[in-house]
Amino acid sequence: MADLIIMKPDATQKEILRVTEKIEKLGFKPHVSKGTERTIIGIIGDTRGISDEVFRIMPGVSEVISILKEYKLASREFHPQDTIIDLNGVKIGEGYFVVMAGPCSVENKEQLYKTAKYIKEKGAKILRGAVFKPRTSPYSFLGLGPEGLKIVKEVKEKFNMLVITEVMAPEEVEMVSEVSDILQIGTRNMFNYRLLEKVGKTNKPVLLKRNFSAKISEFLNCAEYILKEGNNKVILCERGIRAFDTEFTRNILDLSAIPLLKKESHLPVVVDPSHGTGIRDLVIPMSRAAISAGADGLLIEVHPKPEEALSDGFQSLNFEMFGNLMREIIPFVKLMKKKM
Ligand code: PEP
Ligand code: MN
Repeated sequence: MADLIIMKPDATQKEILRVTEKIEKLGFKPHVSKGTERTIIGIIGDTRGISDEVFRIMPGVSEVISILKEYKLASREFHPQDTIIDLNGVKIGEGYFVVMAGPCSVENKEQLYKTAKYIKEKGAKILRGAVFKPRTSPYSFLGLGPEGLKIVKEVKEKFNMLVITEVMAPEEVEMVSEVSDILQIGTRNMFNYRLLEKVGKTNKPVLLKRNFSAKISEFLNCAEYILKEGNNKVILCERGIRAFDTEFTRNILDLSAIPLLKKESHLPVVVDPSHGTGIRDLVIPMSRAAISAGADGLLIEVHPKPEEALSDGFQSLNFEMFGNLMREIIPFVKLMKKKM
């Protein structure tokens, strides 16, 4: 099996081209990463039938490696350097730290306007707010839909901010992509393979939330569904998993997933302590913990009046608490040598 072809440091452009042509001839897609020292060429697809020998004998080839992981493109073996996504100068990935914040649901213009203004002043770079809401009960508030998207667009333009909003269905990807800078896939849709493939065909960064019952390998396999379509801008988000004790917390924030995902994968990892705990008072301490564990960013629910929120008020921070969070995380971000 051949997955990665490591070229010799002095391999010529022609030799590299011959290898990529060979890969295409065998019916696969090459993925070329040019490092400072040498070029590594990955083979995308089910490579079980390809023998190493085919490439080993080619001029300029130093080594042929096989990767046994199912999630090849998401794996660090395939892509040793950290993926850093650059969104109009806002960097997401190792070495950087980004805060995405805003209400659980977009409720009206005033609410989103006030929130955007406040979080921007406090240093958050990306505004969150859902207009399509996957709720446990079909009778709960399900979001403003396309009307809400208009509000997101207006507020985004007014404050010149990047925005992230959830997309629930493949047929809504185009509409949401027109407004949103990052496409969010919620915990319930992590296993929606058609949706993953659809966002994989866009060039928008995708924030993929871990399903509340997903193993790490399932999570990375779902990221693979997006990557295999050619979109390499995937952000992994730990948002809490189901456990036995629901007396106090809504979920258990799996902090160990952060270093584990960073070890297994090159993709950025952000943490959502709002859904991860379900309790407002736990958001700041768990944010500090997430940063210490290596998180590249946070996704935080903030509302001007959490007690009146149409969804997730009990876990949303009010403005004062959000200001405290932004102040309290600074020393932790510095300690981890990340730029904010
Ligand atoms: C959200 O971010 O508002 C949300 C619905 O999150 P999750 O999919 O993690 O429940
Ligand atoms: Mn929510």
